[in-house]
Amino acid sequence: MSVISCNCEKSQIYLNENIIYYSLLCGCEDCRQAGEWGHFKGGPEPEKLQKLIYVRSDIKKIVGKQNMHAYQLRRDARSTRIYCKKCYSIIGIDHPNYKDTVFMLIPQLCKTDLDLSIKPVAAIFMNDYPYKDLSMITDDILYLNDFENDEKNKKFDALMSPLRAKYQKPKGISFRDLIKDVEGITVLNLKKGVKTFN
Ligand SMILES: [Zn+2]
Ligand SMILES: [Zn+2]
Repeated sequence: MSVISCNCEKSQIYLNENIIYYSLLCGCEDCRQAGEWGHFKGGPEPEKLQKLIYVRSDIKKIVGKQNMHAYQLRRDARSTRIYCKKCYSIIGIDHPNYKDTVFMLIPQLCKTDLDLSIKPVAAIFMNDYPYKDLSMITDDILYLNDFENDEKNKKFDALMSPLRAKYQKPKGISFRDLIKDVEGITVLNLKKGVKTFN
């Protein structure tokens, strides 16, 4: 049983499965802004190009639900993130595309005993990435802008399809159910392109 914990350990979720299905690097503004906002509130400092991992949405045990709060960046946001209210780590992220089968986490922004040696398959939304440093993108990682190139999209789908988790009914509760059960959802109304908050 693996655990995802915030940095102060007051918010923890224990998973029924300790498998990471795949990993991606993400250059998108939402991942970056969510990390920067958490850091502004006292949370961990995000990496420039964030490593995302995906685990089955099946939670066995929850510790400190009262310390968790769900946020969205904007009114039209699709992703919902659970932060710890005490330390502003992000312990998980849901998106409609995950279909309640997996949820995402960013190991840099929380703590986990999952085996993080998995290599990212692709770097996505690199059109949104504002930094020059590309040193984390090795030759075996597919580089994608905004899914605008059919040939590259096909390559991405071919890489991803064997890795995607098949839906199965969770033994515990899903991450989406947890979102419904914690405080929030608070909409932050962050302006796009902004790095400083108040
Ligand atoms: Zn915490
Ligand atoms: Zn992203």
